[in-house]
Amino acid sequence: MTADAFVTLAEIEAARAAIAATIRPTPVEPSPSLGALTGQPVQLKLEHHQRSGSFKLRGAANAVARLSPAERQAGVVAVSTGNHGRGLARACAEAGVRCVVAMSELVPENKVEGIRAEGAEVLIRGRSQDAAQAAVDELVAQGMTMIPPFDHRHVIAGQGTLGLEIAEAMPEVTAVLVQLSGGGLICGIAAALKARLHGVRVIGVSMARGAAMHASLAAGRPVEVEELPTLADSLGGGIGLENRHTFAMAKALVDEVVLLEEPEIAAGIRHCYWHERQIVEGSGAVGVAALLAGKVRVDGPTMVLLSGGNIDMELHHRIIGGEDVELMTEAG
Ligand SMILES: *Cc1c(COP(=O)(O)O)cnc(C)c1O
Repeated sequence: MTADAFVTLAEIEAARAAIAATIRPTPVEPSPSLGALTGQPVQLKLEHHQRSGSFKLRGAANAVARLSPAERQAGVVAVSTGNHGRGLARACAEAGVRCVVAMSELVPENKVEGIRAEGAEVLIRGRSQDAAQAAVDELVAQGMTMIPPFDHRHVIAGQGTLGLEIAEAMPEVTAVLVQLSGGGLICGIAAALKARLHGVRVIGVSMARGAAMHASLAAGRPVEVEELPTLADSLGGGIGLENRHTFAMAKALVDEVVLLEEPEIAAGIRHCYWHERQIVEGSGAVGVAALLAGKVRVDGPTMVLLSGGNIDMELHHRIIGGEDVELMTEAG
């Protein structure tokens, strides 16, 4: 492990200036209900109100800002069906950079539309993620730049700007609950927070169904896990067997990782709606869900991140109405 695997506070501060015109700083609100539950002051960071619907815009905007003039001219590509594609599309539209997002024929039409609506060209190739990746490799060979969703230092630095906002909004914070998938989000936040504040614990929350970083930390090296349908669909996927940054950073900076079952994630979505008046996707609700499930003990002021709000509204309607979620995820 080399020191330059780590993204620094200086890089995160530079990212903040680079993305200031593209992102909106998001509000922080107290949660009286979670305060009563835990006996500690709890605040929610409302990042699902970010433009394009998730924090992914921050990392994407920073990566786009750091392109050379020749790279800007040639444009960027990504494989994504979700929030990374949306964020990158939006960042590129603002910067006047061509953006191609590749995906397979199996991706539902509403997701394709979501990414197209943010201004990207959508390239539909084959019936698997591999076919979409092959299309991206061709475009990279022609000179376009691929922007990955998490294991990239400018992406991590962009997500880290959330850590600066959290430290400023709640300098007394002792525990921060953050979603964990590939780790770009939590590593950026932890790097900023731990450089700015003393004694703050950073707790990662993943779904039990396919928690790749959790399995990798336990194994001591990046490992693959089976990908399963989950309500926290933005947390799916591996960390990459050739991981360059987030595995080493998570190992050093993440204090604890907790895993949630599907009904617990559904309870988080429901709580956000009925008690906090927030419409949050499954991945966005896992921090709240971890507190509700009693899986994290907090002994001081606590911040919980709501990371995204891009959920199918019909699915959301069924969840808040109390339908059986096991049936929903089995149906895909
Ligand atoms: C991507 C995403 C995450 C996880 O971020 P990583 O950097 O992959 O750990 C969490 N929540 C939402 C809404 C996301 O889109």
